[in-house]
Amino acid sequence: MTDTGRHETQGGRSIAIVGAGVVGAATALALAARGHAVTVIDRGEVGAGTSSGNAGAIVTGAVTPTATPGVIRSIPSYLLDPNSAAVLRPAHFFRSLPWLLRFIAAGQPKRVVGIAAALHPLVSKSLQAHLALADMSGARELIRPGGWLKLYTSAAGFSASALERELMTRHGVHFSVLQPAEVAELEPRLNKNAYTRGLFQPDSGFVNYPRALAQSYFECARQRQALYLQETVLELRPVDGGGVSIRTDQATRQFDAVVVAAGAWSKQFAAQVGDKVSLDTERGYHLSFASTGESLLGRPVCFPEKQCVLSPMHDGISLSSGDELAGLVAPPDFRRIRALVPFARNVLPALMGQAIQREWMGYRPSTPDSLPVIARSPRCAKVFYAFGHGHLGLTLSAITAQLVAGMVSGDPEPFDLSPYRIARF
Ligand SMILES: Cc1cc2nc3c(=O)[nH]c(=O)nc-3n(C[C@H](O)[C@H](O)[C@H](O)COP(=O)(O)OP(=O)(O)OC[C@H]3O[C@@H](n4cnc5c(N)ncnc54)[C@H](O)[C@@H]3O)c2cc1C
Repeated sequence: MTDTGRHETQGGRSIAIVGAGVVGAATALALAARGHAVTVIDRGEVGAGTSSGNAGAIVTGAVTPTATPGVIRSIPSYLLDPNSAAVLRPAHFFRSLPWLLRFIAAGQPKRVVGIAAALHPLVSKSLQAHLALADMSGARELIRPGGWLKLYTSAAGFSASALERELMTRHGVHFSVLQPAEVAELEPRLNKNAYTRGLFQPDSGFVNYPRALAQSYFECARQRQALYLQETVLELRPVDGGGVSIRTDQATRQFDAVVVAAGAWSKQFAAQVGDKVSLDTERGYHLSFASTGESLLGRPVCFPEKQCVLSPMHDGISLSSGDELAGLVAPPDFRRIRALVPFARNVLPALMGQAIQREWMGYRPSTPDSLPVIARSPRCAKVFYAFGHGHLGLTLSAITAQLVAGMVSGDPEPFDLSPYRIARF
């Protein structure tokens, strides 16, 4: 039976959002706030997937893409060294090859400069966009100032950040290089012998309970008549004469428009509409240490040489890491994140006696050029895309929501959105 997705609002359009991660939840709020009749469809609970376990950083200066010349040089070790920070599982190699070739192309110096210029308008507005949604939804206390701190354990490690510093300088990102005494002032509980230099972006923010943020955004949308359907979406189909029909495992319904925000699972829906996209998942892990009851860190702290982050989450310190190309179905492999536990306990000695209370894996939805897809489908004007945020999905969710709400409502582009079009693939 085909239902219409209409419910009571004053004059808005009926918009379905596929996916209730932080991107879908933020988009639901931005659209509901403009009077649209929003229906969010997810097979799980709001914000419970990848959006629940990230490191919580809103990095307003994250202009450096994942693919850089240095990362490209490390790719052979991803295949051959099981202890490398990033891993490409051999069984996934051929499947990921087209994505990987595009990733290598995106890491060429000229492309990196262009991608940084395209990331800048998004990341620089990211915290502001979150604060606007948080003010609407009463979630302001979930978003803290405090900055983004990277610590280097060696001179070589710090030197390797030269490109990142150059790109930040070029785009006017505020940052400072910290000497050990300055780091110790910011984070006194860290082992002072565990770092030699810091790189600090003071304007970044932090969410210590990312799932609660997504839930707050959706709850506020619900107060503005948004509906939630816990169903598995099977198919999107543009309908002759306008609108899009969505078939789930429960029913088929018709909406005026659809936003695809299904994270790493979005590619199948784009394909159903006829749009090609290069999207893979960079799987990532976290371990959560039982809380000591004290405040151990003031902000997330990243250790680039180990490619891990320690974050002071609501229920204890989390250690996140991992960049694993292994697809959407292979079982998790916690060996590499477990191997980082001694490092974490050395840099933050208060973790020494703390048990590990949770092991978690999530699926970053990653494009090879580190740019999200925020676009209207060129095949069907009623389909909009909001996925592919990779390492920056929490950071970019609120600005994505604002942009999608503007597109759906027919606003003029606030800046050049062509770098995020789906037709680039
Ligand atoms: C270890 C780790 C650390 C990270 N740290 C940070 C960080 O500090 N800062 C940052 O900005 N980002 C970080 N990220 C990235 C960030 O978490 C992701 O980019 C973000 O969560 C993606 O959000 P999303 O809403 O696009 O996807 P998701 O959270 O994956 O949501 C997609 C939703 O779509 C639903 N769905 C999929 N298919 C279907 C279907 N067929 N039917 C119904 N529903 C469906 C899923 O159930 C899911 O709920 C990190 C990621 C990891 C793994």
